[in-house]
Amino acid sequence: MAVPKRKKSKSRRDMRKSQTKAAKAMPGDQRERVVVVTGGSRGIGRAICVALADQSTHVYINYVSSTASALETEEIIKSRGGSASSVRADVSRADAVKDLFKTVISERGRIDVLVNNAGITRDGLVPRMKEPDWDDVLAVNLKGTFLCIRAASRQMLKQRSGRIINITSVVGVSGNAGQSNYAASKAGIIGLTKSVASEFASRNITVNAVAPGLIETDMTGGLDSYTHERIAKLVPAGRMGKPEEVAAAVAFLASDEAAYITGQVIHVNGGIYM
Ligand code: NAP
Repeated sequence: MAVPKRKKSKSRRDMRKSQTKAAKAMPGDQRERVVVVTGGSRGIGRAICVALADQSTHVYINYVSSTASALETEEIIKSRGGSASSVRADVSRADAVKDLFKTVISERGRIDVLVNNAGITRDGLVPRMKEPDWDDVLAVNLKGTFLCIRAASRQMLKQRSGRIINITSVVGVSGNAGQSNYAASKAGIIGLTKSVASEFASRNITVNAVAPGLIETDMTGGLDSYTHERIAKLVPAGRMGKPEEVAAAVAFLASDEAAYITGQVIHVNGGIYM
């Protein structure tokens, strides 16, 4: 009669190893969540920083020039019991982005959420558009998003977890006369989002985009009241959007409930583009 082989018992070291692995993979544990928001000093970025902040989260508020605004965002978060710090870095520069993420990793050891929100416009019709206006917009909006994804994903791949949310725009899908550089950069962000989502899906890293319509911020602040009224008439919802309404979509994509959503573009535009 064949004697059944006894199963080898696990060594203590093996057991400890698998316990640590399980602890690392535990969902919803008490570990601090680390969030990086580019262009978090003002407008939509500020609203995103505030929406993502809570007692178990540290928010890095990135900005490029307005230190006072970044500190104001920091104060709003702290006054609500959250934790935040401001980091100056031009996202269009590879060395600055490298330093930004070096700071985050050395201070906190991880990155759970990256929101690529920093963006600029340099509007003009194509025949009159100057080359630097094309280059600057592509460098900040599209290359900046790529550089930050590249830097953050190296850490997220090690963690085998992460959320990346890129802020594109309605004009990235509809186009807009006078904004060819901006529209091209935002359309590029959508292609980038879908490609990176495919690369990282098996590693528990989701990559999505949020496409705001017309939102009340400094970026649209130059519009006179006549234009505001005309725009409001164009939007089926009858008004411009608020930064908090964009931030709510970002907060959802960063939440545990959105774990199975990747490679998508969520439009927040009052129905101006369907
Ligand atoms: P905003 O009020 O003009 O704020 C822009 C933010 O980006 C600021 O925090 C600014 O930092 C930062 N920034 C600019 N260049 C940067 C760089 N090189 N490196 C790092 N940070 C940089 O713009 P917003 O209206 O909130 O727009 C936020 C995002 O939403 C943008 O990507 C924009 O394209 C997109 N969006 C906006 C609308 C809209 O109607 N407002 C519609 C669709 C999409 P400083 O404060 O230091 O200058």
